Amino acid sequence: MTEAMNMQFNRELFSPQELKRMYGVSPEATACKARNDKEIRAVLDGSSDKLLLVVGPCSADREDAVLDYISRLRPLQEKVADKIVIVPRIYTNKPRTTGAGYKGMLHQPDPIADPDLFKGLVSIRKLHLKALETTGFSCADEMLYPENHLFLSDLLSYVAVGARSVEDQQHRLVASGLDIPVGMKNPTGGDLSVMMNSINAAQHGHSFIYRNWDVSSTGNPYAHAILRGYVDSHGTSHPNYHYEDLMRLVELYASGQYANPGVIVDCNHSNSGKKYLEQGRIAKEVLHSTRHSAEVARLVKGLMIESYIEDGSQKTGEHVYGCSITDPCLGWEKTERLILDIAELR
Ligand code: PEP
Ligand code: MN
Repeated sequence: MTEAMNMQFNRELFSPQELKRMYGVSPEATACKARNDKEIRAVLDGSSDKLLLVVGPCSADREDAVLDYISRLRPLQEKVADKIVIVPRIYTNKPRTTGAGYKGMLHQPDPIADPDLFKGLVSIRKLHLKALETTGFSCADEMLYPENHLFLSDLLSYVAVGARSVEDQQHRLVASGLDIPVGMKNPTGGDLSVMMNSINAAQHGHSFIYRNWDVSSTGNPYAHAILRGYVDSHGTSHPNYHYEDLMRLVELYASGQYANPGVIVDCNHSNSGKKYLEQGRIAKEVLHSTRHSAEVARLVKGLMIESYIEDGSQKTGEHVYGCSITDPCLGWEKTERLILDIAELR
């Protein structure tokens, strides 16, 4: 297995079927995910006016703090159930701008130890499984590695294709074969046509190779946009959540043939310039924009917020429980307040 490659084949992993058998989902949890899926799809197809809130830490660094965080969302979800559908973020694999740094629980189940993909794979399935079984949330993850989706496909209710992956054909083709909503982020450089082309590709059927199979997909009508701001050629962050940006997206959708035009506005990343405390103001501005135009109101399906137990971020190795080791996050008290405010404004 090592001929002519500058790569060590360290260990063969489980197949998705094997891992799913080892860490199986109860019939109750499967039914719960089906209910969640239905409710989330209803927001995206416009049959529900609720707002999706994809909320949680930038990266799921440790199981205890992530489960603690998500269980705090449960009573809050009950309080705002008439207005908001919460989809917690459990992001288990992280794209890196330069290639260096923590690549997520999949690579490093222990963020300060060496990578262990075998353990990592088991850890991410166990984490998503426990979240569903103990809190009733089927969560969101980034689909960074499309071939890995099947390890979690019975647990996830939402995936995002990240800003660094959205132009990639394999991501688009696999997105076209998923039965859950896929959010296509605008690329880091901000070119919205890349995002629109990705939505278009994902909404249509394709034939392709997936996990050593010849497969065909029927297209995913729930593929939609995520605006995350962008970085210009000088490295400066610029927002794309303002009213004018949303109107521009209304026009872009209208100039093509798309099922379920919709956007989720990512309030962190280049929209906040990673000034995480700005997320509340940005979320409220977006809600304000929806009151100025029926078209914008129809377009905006939800918000993405990076939030954890503690405010801000820390360096890996500092070991602060519930504090992000990647992008800075809004802490729990501020998150709770913000979600209640959003429900009030909706
Ligand atoms: C994220 O959601 O944490 C993320 C990495 O987003 P983006 O792809 O927009 O940088
Ligand atoms: Mn992030």
